[in-house]
Amino acid sequence: MTKEKLISDTQTLHRFIQLHCDKKHHDIPKKKGALQVSFKEESLCDLPYHICEECETLFLYAYGKLKNCPHENKPSCRKCPDPCYAKPMWKKMASVMMFSGMQFGLTKIRKIFSK
Ligand SMILES: [Zn+2]
Repeated sequence: MTKEKLISDTQTLHRFIQLHCDKKHHDIPKKKGALQVSFKEESLCDLPYHICEECETLFLYAYGKLKNCPHENKPSCRKCPDPCYAKPMWKKMASVMMFSGMQFGLTKIRKIFSK
């Protein structure tokens, strides 16, 4: 894992979870927080979020896994030879990724067609 990769992967994670929570959990009370991204004791950036408690747990869990990824060249988690996620968390993450991936995909498609 490198510093740059950790930042960009955490930002992607944040975008996906935030969007999923905005769209799917709008009737659940949300809390404000900020994730401090750090790499080997060096603090890199803060990512403010506004998500529900369940999503926060998932976000922090996923960040912890990312940060502690033992692979030098981190593969995509889907292609990882030894996945480190606990099954229920993995399932949750997969559905967030799928949902938000589609949303982002749609926005992109809409942008292309509105030109
Ligand atoms: Zn949520």
